[in-house]
Order: sequence, then structure tokens, then C-alpha cells
Amino acid sequence: MDLCNYHSHCDFCDGKAPAEAFVKAAIAAGFHSYGISSHSPLPFRTSWSLDREDVPAYLKEVERLKKAYAHEIELYVGMEIDYLSDSWNPSIAYFQELPLDYRIGSVHFVENGKGEIMDMDGPFDEFRQNLQNLFKGDLKRLVEAYFEASMRMVEAGGFDFIAHADKIAMNASLVDNTITETPWYGEKIRDYFALIAEKGIMVEVNTKAYRRLGIMFPNRRYFKWLNDLGIRFLVNSDSHLPDLVNDGRALAFEWLREAGVKTTVHLHEGKWEEVPISI
Ligand SMILES: [Zn+2]
Ligand SMILES: [Zn+2]
Repeated sequence: MDLCNYHSHCDFCDGKAPAEAFVKAAIAAGFHSYGISSHSPLPFRTSWSLDREDVPAYLKEVERLKKAYAHEIELYVGMEIDYLSDSWNPSIAYFQELPLDYRIGSVHFVENGKGEIMDMDGPFDEFRQNLQNLFKGDLKRLVEAYFEASMRMVEAGGFDFIAHADKIAMNASLVDNTITETPWYGEKIRDYFALIAEKGIMVEVNTKAYRRLGIMFPNRRYFKWLNDLGIRFLVNSDSHLPDLVNDGRALAFEWLREAGVKTTVHLHEGKWEEVPISI
């Protein structure tokens, strides 16, 4: 199994330990490479994203770790960059000019058409409340707005792969567990994946929620279809705890293989390379 991970957090954002603890855990797990990808700064403060003034220290710390562990593991510095709007997303000059090894495109916030935004990835109670307050309880409109934001992010580009592509399904399914079966949902997700394929962007299989919910993002039901579209995959743990750097990885590879996927992608000497899946 190819041992690496490029979606992970540390105490520069909402990760629960210093970056070095994740690096040590990755080395202990036998990883050949590892990328730290803190939540990008936003034009407002949150409890879980990097503050803009901390970005130089973040870059410097990963640089220090790269040198300190150069003989044991290839380290990379990335960022999980939020799409908020046309003026705040991975493609803007600020993010493009940062000396990052790679960029992740990610949608956590959904806008209701009146300039009000909600975090669709938070606790379910908050999600339900925001759905009422900001979307008048209209789940379809919220889900559509999520995929529309995701597609605008893909159109704008400026990143290597998409984080947890259909994460909205996590909370939305708790409101209506038939939502992903509806024809309009199917249509939205098909349009979204077709655009990803057209733009040549990679998709991660995000294993973070597997331990709690038994699912990965995107849902495994889409693996075959993404593969048929020629989309390349990575497997990432989105770890916030050092103990979880390798969590769910073996199963993700098994599911990918079952879906007919032959290769995944990893970084080697700074370049994305395809490697055959072997379990
Ligand atoms: Zn995320
Ligand atoms: Zn993340």
C-alpha cells in the first residue's frame, strides 16, 4: 500500500498537536511522504483556520521540519484553501504567490444569495439551525448552493485536488436520508464531477469520517464513475490527531480497487506521480 498523506492539520489551525508530532507519527507508520495542509486564512477570524499573520511562521516551521527529517521522509507544505466567493478562493494572487508545494480546494461555507454564509461542515445542531435561519429550511437550495460554489471553485482553479468533494451529504443526509437518491442531487453531482474531469483536477478520498460514520468522501458509490471519467485519486486522512494519520487508508484502497481503480497519486521529489494500487 502506498503510504503517504497530503491532507492534514496541526496546531497552526485546528489540529490537536504540533506539526512535528504528525511528522513523527507518519514516520512511525512508514510513510514515504507527508504534507501538512492547514486551513487557509479567511477574510474573517474563525477558531479553526490559520490567521493570516501566522502564515510566515507556518511556512517556516514546515521548512524546518523538512530539513530536520529529510533523511526519513519527504515533507511538503500545502494549504486547505476555502472557496468563499470569486474574490476569496485558491486562485487569488495571495494564495498563488505563497510558496506552497500544493494547494487543496475546499468548500466549507455556503452562501444564501443574500451575502450570508454558513459552515456546512460543523456540528449537526448548528447545521440545522443555520438551515432554518439562512436558507428558510430549504435543504435543496442549500445543497444546490454547495455544489454551485464547488463548481465555481473548480472553474476558477488554482489548486491540485479537491477536499471531501461531497461533504454536504454528511449533514444534509441527517435532515433527509433520501437526499442523495433524488434525481436532482444525482444531476448536480454528475455535472460537478464532469467539470472536475474536464479541468483535470484530482479528487481525494477523504477517510476522516469513516471511524465515526462509516463513510468516506466522496461516497464510494461514485468511485467507479469518477474513474470512468479519468479522474485521478489520492487517499488522505485529513488527520487532526497524530494517531490518525493512517486511519482508514487500507480500506480506501480496497474500495478503490473494487471499483476498478488501478492507480493513485502521490508526491515524489515535488511532482505528482501515479502509482499502481497494491494492497
Ligand atoms: Zn475540510
Ligand atoms: Zn481538512
